[in-house]
Amino acid sequence: MSVGIVGGGITGLATHYYLRESGVESVVFEADDEPGGVVRSAEVEGRVLDFGPQRTRLTPSIRRLVESLGLDDELREASDPPLYVYRDEKLRLVPQSPREAVTTDLLSWRGKARALLEPLTGPAREGESVEAFLTRKFGSEVARYYFGPLYGGIYGSHPGEMPVEHSLAKALDGAGIEGSVLTSVARKVVSGREAPPIVSFDAGLQRLPEALAEAHRESVRLGTPVRGIRREGDRFTLETADGETTVDELVVTTPADVTADLLGDLAPESAAALRELNYNPQAVVHLRAETDLTGAGYQVQYDEEFRTLGATWNASLLDRDGVYTCYLGGSRNPELVERSDDELASVAAEEFEAITGHGARALSVRRLRRGMPAYDRSWAALDRVSAPEGIRLCTNYTSRAGIPGRIREAKATAETLARKESERETASTVTA
Ligand SMILES: Cc1cc2nc3c(=O)[nH]c(=O)nc-3n(C[C@H](O)[C@H](O)[C@H](O)COP(=O)(O)OP(=O)(O)OC[C@H]3O[C@@H](n4cnc5c(N)ncnc54)[C@H](O)[C@@H]3O)c2cc1C
Repeated sequence: MSVGIVGGGITGLATHYYLRESGVESVVFEADDEPGGVVRSAEVEGRVLDFGPQRTRLTPSIRRLVESLGLDDELREASDPPLYVYRDEKLRLVPQSPREAVTTDLLSWRGKARALLEPLTGPAREGESVEAFLTRKFGSEVARYYFGPLYGGIYGSHPGEMPVEHSLAKALDGAGIEGSVLTSVARKVVSGREAPPIVSFDAGLQRLPEALAEAHRESVRLGTPVRGIRREGDRFTLETADGETTVDELVVTTPADVTADLLGDLAPESAAALRELNYNPQAVVHLRAETDLTGAGYQVQYDEEFRTLGATWNASLLDRDGVYTCYLGGSRNPELVERSDDELASVAAEEFEAITGHGARALSVRRLRRGMPAYDRSWAALDRVSAPEGIRLCTNYTSRAGIPGRIREAKATAETLARKESERETASTVTA
């Protein structure tokens, strides 16, 4: 059996790696000259910058990948850093332990007391938004100042626009949607289970997809966009500028609009639905600053008059000399990404100074016109998407965004295909 993988981002490359490890023949087609997709790192003025994700959790699967790729010595680990939300003229500590939940000034005593009633509340209702769900469960303060900025802010969406079923339900993996979120958190605290550490690599996060591509480089075709997909009996032919390749199974990991173009003839209704999915445009501005800030960074509460969604303090988090990464735009200011580099640089630096009190200058300005999946109401269109037989869709619209989620889905996809391969072999042996 041969598998064609469209897209050499972290999902496509991890799928390829797991398939190859289990002896299944596969080939990756990546449009760009570099592997990694939105996971992209580079050096500017001698400093490592990441233009997409800044860090990942070192989950057991990622740890195993890092070890088998020989990347252990390049890992940078962050020690349990504090995180902040900016609201009412101040950075306020996000509680990450029961003790911090008592002492933080992010919430009033009344807000904290209301949150304790959560175990008495019911599960998510059909069509309920993240904001309505969290308000009903924890009260309006916790919804607006704690979960809202942390959850919606990461995607650049307003929680009032995000239906639970297409967003938070995936993040909580059932634990807090049907049952109580607080009870499940309390269980974790009592059992002493800790979240895996936050990590990156000396040369930035792109090191991971680079190493995955390198491990089986003979079958990773960079700079080779797939232009079309044809069905030939029960096989598929991929068209590229270099010629055609025919495979038995396909894994498509491209953003929704590209997938829609590629599946247009094979599954027109699914393609039309995929075109409806919103991604939030974002500008990523790296700043250089001398500060005494310690922590992971901050999210800006969405009622504040800032265009910055949040900032990562790479300097403190990952020991990156004076580097701070600001995300701007999102669903509230989608047109912001069209501004000039100079304008974006000064908005980011001015707002960083207003929020932290520290002056900064820009190192780099990048734009992600289709950045984070918005997981807003447009994602209801997913109900109308079904991949044709023999094609697996595998990326931010089939399961969770984020590197751990992507690796998990890649592994599961590769395992399913490997099982199919061994069933085929058994069947052909029996026939022979
Ligand atoms: C701004 C931002 C910040 C993030 N921060 C974090 C974070 O801190 N931690 C975390 O864990 N996650 C984070 N994420 C999420 C995480 O980065 C993504 O979920 C993940 O990288 C998506 O990987 P993917 O391979 O599924 O998709 P992509 O990276 O989009 O890969 C798809 C690939 O398909 C290729 N392609 C497109 N068209 C074609 C074609 N015609 N033929 C062949 N190839 C094609 C593209 O070039 C691309 O390489 C962030 C994402 C963004 C955008």
